[in-house]
Amino acid sequence: MLLFTPGPTPVPESVRVAMAGETLHHRTPEFEAIFERTRTLLFELLGMDEVLMLASSGTGAMESAVINLAHSKLLSINSGKFGERFGKIAVAHGIANVEIKHEWDTPATVAEVMEALNANPDVDAIAIQICESAGGLRHNVEAIAAAVKAYNPAIMVIADGITAVGVEKINVTHIDCLISGSQKALMLPPGLAIMGLSNAAISKMGSGKGYYFNLVTEIKNQRKNTTAWTAATTLVIGLESILNRIKDEGGLDNLYDITARRAHATREAMIALGLHIYPETPADSMTTVDDVDAKTIRSLLKKEFEVNVAGGQDHIKELIFRINHMGLISAYEAAWAVNAVELALAKMGRRAYDGTANRVFNTVYFGL
Ligand SMILES: *Cc1c(COP(=O)(O)O)cnc(C)c1O
Repeated sequence: MLLFTPGPTPVPESVRVAMAGETLHHRTPEFEAIFERTRTLLFELLGMDEVLMLASSGTGAMESAVINLAHSKLLSINSGKFGERFGKIAVAHGIANVEIKHEWDTPATVAEVMEALNANPDVDAIAIQICESAGGLRHNVEAIAAAVKAYNPAIMVIADGITAVGVEKINVTHIDCLISGSQKALMLPPGLAIMGLSNAAISKMGSGKGYYFNLVTEIKNQRKNTTAWTAATTLVIGLESILNRIKDEGGLDNLYDITARRAHATREAMIALGLHIYPETPADSMTTVDDVDAKTIRSLLKKEFEVNVAGGQDHIKELIFRINHMGLISAYEAAWAVNAVELALAKMGRRAYDGTANRVFNTVYFGL
């Protein structure tokens, strides 16, 4: 079975092997050396002033970012499940929250963000997904962050890049907190959250907020190559391994290039089959198709053609399917996935099979 869900993504064998060693104690020179090398690799990946590794799923990093950086009011962008989560975190901590809410196929605009800031002068942080994974939507974070900083540089920009870091090069010029997680584009098992911070964010934090997720406590420790609490040692070892593997396979720019080509080729193949791409502004981390038969297509893909793609959540649970592009996925696997969609449509009697998906995928991917 090919795993084509946008998280968790397949863990390469070399990484699984790297994580199979004997358990290391986290307060040892051996582990501190691994931690230091991994930190160096993370600085290259994120391009931020400071980096942190937290033992939690991605939501823990979202929560720690909100509590440490939003002191008076959070403006959150809700174009899906993950954007909604930022607002729920603020509410759970008694932090005032104002939300810009859209259908899950619709990105936020610079104009409405500016309008919300003008109407809420007490907003001191904005939280947004780079890719909102609920619908595979790419927000124009670069333009929004630049406009926010031009309006008031003291407003903190929190960018959830859990399905963007490792997919494409992120322009972090106007970002104060960039969040990533292990089980999506970084191809690791779940359980490690990653964060990049600007110096401005670190200054704003003062002595930090919270206990487990007090980021100032973490910064103090991680600058000494250790962690405040027990480190997710195995996942840190895995992270060093995957970041080195990416280097060995042509580096980050090569990873971004092949991911973009695979995403583009997949979208074109779906369109050539007469299918519709759900988000107005699709991200390259996944291709989301909305279709009345989405549920049947998904189940045929799994049962007949050994391709496991994701459905949706909430009100679009059965109306979309999502094909993952994150990770080191071979072209032959991606070509099979689009071919399987065409086979499923043929099986349902919707369209005669003629090899269109495979032909279009290869033509676009290989630039024929
Ligand atoms: C997966 C994901 C998260 C975090 O989810 P966890 O289950 O806590 O790891 C957050 N934001 C986005 C955009 C995601 O795709």
